[in-house]
Amino acid sequence: MKIASVIVDVPTKQTDKPFDYLIPDQWKDTIQPGMRVIVPFGPRKIQGFVTELKNQSEFKQLREICEPMDLEPVLNKELLELGNWLTEHTLCFKIFAYQAMLPAALKAKYQKKVKLASRTKLNDLPEPLPLFFHQDGTIHWDEALKSGIVPKLQREAAKGHLEVIYEVKGKLKKKQIKMIRPLLPLPELTAEMAQIPARAAKQKEVLRYFIENYREIELKQLLDDLHTTKSTVNALIEKKILFERDAEVYRDPFEHRTFERTFSLPLTEHQQKAIGPILNSINEDQHEVFLLYGVTGSGKTEIYLQSIQDCLEKGKEAIVLVPEIALTPQMVNRFKGRFGNLVAVMHSGLSAGEKYDEWRKILRREVSVVVGARSAIFAPFENLGIIIIDEEHETSYKQEDMPRYHARDVAIKRAETYNCPVVLGSATPSLESFARAQKRVYKLLSLPSRMNNQALPSVEIIDMREELREGNRSMFSRSLFDKLKDRIEKKQQSVLFLNKRGHSSFVMCRDCGYVINCPNCDISLTYHRASEQMKCHYCGYESYVPKQCPECLSEHIRYFGTGTQKVEAELGKILPEARIIRMDVDTTGRKGAHEKLLQEFQDGKADILLGTQMIAKGLDFPNITLVGVLSADTMLHLPDFRSSEKTFQLLTQVSGRAGRHKLPGEVIIQTYTPEHYSVELAGTQDYDLFYNREMMVRKVHHYPPFYYLTLITVSHEQLMTVVSVTEKIAGYVRSRVSNETVVLGPTASPIPRINNRYRYQCLIKYKREKDLSRTLKTILDQYQKDMAHGLQVSIDLNPFILM
Ligand code: ADP
Ligand code: ZN
Ligand code: ZN
Repeated sequence: MKIASVIVDVPTKQTDKPFDYLIPDQWKDTIQPGMRVIVPFGPRKIQGFVTELKNQSEFKQLREICEPMDLEPVLNKELLELGNWLTEHTLCFKIFAYQAMLPAALKAKYQKKVKLASRTKLNDLPEPLPLFFHQDGTIHWDEALKSGIVPKLQREAAKGHLEVIYEVKGKLKKKQIKMIRPLLPLPELTAEMAQIPARAAKQKEVLRYFIENYREIELKQLLDDLHTTKSTVNALIEKKILFERDAEVYRDPFEHRTFERTFSLPLTEHQQKAIGPILNSINEDQHEVFLLYGVTGSGKTEIYLQSIQDCLEKGKEAIVLVPEIALTPQMVNRFKGRFGNLVAVMHSGLSAGEKYDEWRKILRREVSVVVGARSAIFAPFENLGIIIIDEEHETSYKQEDMPRYHARDVAIKRAETYNCPVVLGSATPSLESFARAQKRVYKLLSLPSRMNNQALPSVEIIDMREELREGNRSMFSRSLFDKLKDRIEKKQQSVLFLNKRGHSSFVMCRDCGYVINCPNCDISLTYHRASEQMKCHYCGYESYVPKQCPECLSEHIRYFGTGTQKVEAELGKILPEARIIRMDVDTTGRKGAHEKLLQEFQDGKADILLGTQMIAKGLDFPNITLVGVLSADTMLHLPDFRSSEKTFQLLTQVSGRAGRHKLPGEVIIQTYTPEHYSVELAGTQDYDLFYNREMMVRKVHHYPPFYYLTLITVSHEQLMTVVSVTEKIAGYVRSRVSNETVVLGPTASPIPRINNRYRYQCLIKYKREKDLSRTLKTILDQYQKDMAHGLQVSIDLNPFILM
């Protein structure tokens, strides 16, 4: 084939289609669909994905591909097609769809450089410019910016002395180690020994090592073991006695851990009933979606493991998705323990290089199971036998940037292609999924009780208003305080859960109520105790807390609310004997920190684990007997139709952390709205009742799962522009949809300004709109030109964040 169709890395409407390029002779047999290539595009050289090879093109005068970027395709045929589907279903550019499927390390980075024009010599440039150029006649754009010589460069460029080029960097280095082995057979080694002069004692020692251990060894280890230097080893390499080679190693983040091998447990009757249909689906190559509904501890994971086992025995592969924050070492161990080295792990805690290594194991068929967060759904397997999504209700399965996909939808699409089952597991299924199970679109499989019929923890709901009325101004109710104290005495552990980092710790004037907002965004600044600064979580603005209120000049200005840091400080006052581990975004930022803190807690080095969302999942320590939720309702008041659902799910999840083993567990939920059904029903852990209540609310207000949603957000620096564009869009949508469809807006977004850009939105609620996709595309096309000039129109089909 002579011609390759290429999707180029230029995310615009005009370039959102394959461009044809000639394949130069030297690359004829090399270039294949699914490979990345460098191609000329206008004056630049850019990256692209080959989607197809062909012999003819409708275009004349094709340009040539410069070079391939891969030695083998990075996307298989199925993934190339999935890219088209993603583009259709999320209204994104194809290039974004393909890039989303690859580990970050493979995403192209371009380096802008300024280069001498072909006939120009360095000395032709005026001083001091020659000084800044590298030997190859280039200077990096970033360096030029830093050195402040851009205007000078511009003048020279205008004279034709310089040009701007783009270089693709990011051909990722694989990690290499040096290995040493004997080059001669053993008897000859012994003979060589005699040849080495006595004064070269070190060389003799190295040689003796290889006579005693005739094998390959890593250079570093050899040097460490023998306390010798590289030059000694080099001497033997030069004499052709030893041989050195570079070996590629995988950066395995788990390499130093051992996994205790586990085996399939005999299933309980309930488990057998649940796994039967899944195994059938695997055996008969039947695509089906199952909703595995069972409380935490009911044995869902064991069902996943045994279903995967079945797939592996048939030579098929498995993808397991777990929410990022639940991807704890404990979770990973359960899969590695069962399937050992056949498991690759992909989560954001890994460095880009580590992720790339895990991904290559999949590409090379060295593993058959991948356990990972959302993007692992794109694992380049070619013979999928099952896709499992644990905690399927988690909103983190929806990606918020382009492509705005939901992993559940991608899973179902891929499973259709491979005729294999999808298993969605949860103790608190999303309303969408449970409704589909009710309508038999999904098949419902239930695990009605915890293993060994262990009781669920008892839950007590505390009305914090009542506490206040009785004179308790602390953030701890008397009951929670007593129980915390009790656990410390009994040497048992407690978990304290706080919703969201800092979110409520704003700075307010006690006299006039003035709240300090970000000057760029219409949102309050968050107080950070460690740096004693206020920060904006949207634009990064930082400032010190003023000594006086800017409004009324009162000095009673201070921070409010309960960030984790504040809780920690208060605990220190009222329970000075308590040993506390705090886990939030601030303490777990560094790589491996998350794991280390959990390990410390597991080892009993603390009495109380205090944290945000990230401790709500996956924790399974036998000594935890008390879980306290400090403020159950912080989430209830967000402008989000899912806030009740999220509150219920979170409270249920957190409660599940207590008493998972022999010791019975207790849960205390503190709240200002104990009468709200999501709090009340989380107290009795009654999902079915919650489902019915919430479905009524959704029906009345025309929300999913009764209606589909699409959110259009418009932003620009000029308020007038935003309002008028949003108005036009809303009007256009109204003119194109049926009477049954509701179009809300234009209205200001719940966060009306971010980073000095005003934001307006339009929300579409519909049951059936065959042509909506086309309508939305027309809108994007219409504003394409303005988007280059600072207007932003983003469309989210099935949004999870309505702010
Ligand atoms: P879930 O995933 O629903 O939280 P798990 O699969 O983790 O539940 O099971 C809870 C506990 O019960 C685990 O410690 C697990 O090893 C154990 N378990 C699960 N299935 C069985 C079984 N069939 N026999 C004995 N123990 C089991
Ligand atoms: Zn004031
Ligand atoms: Zn801001």
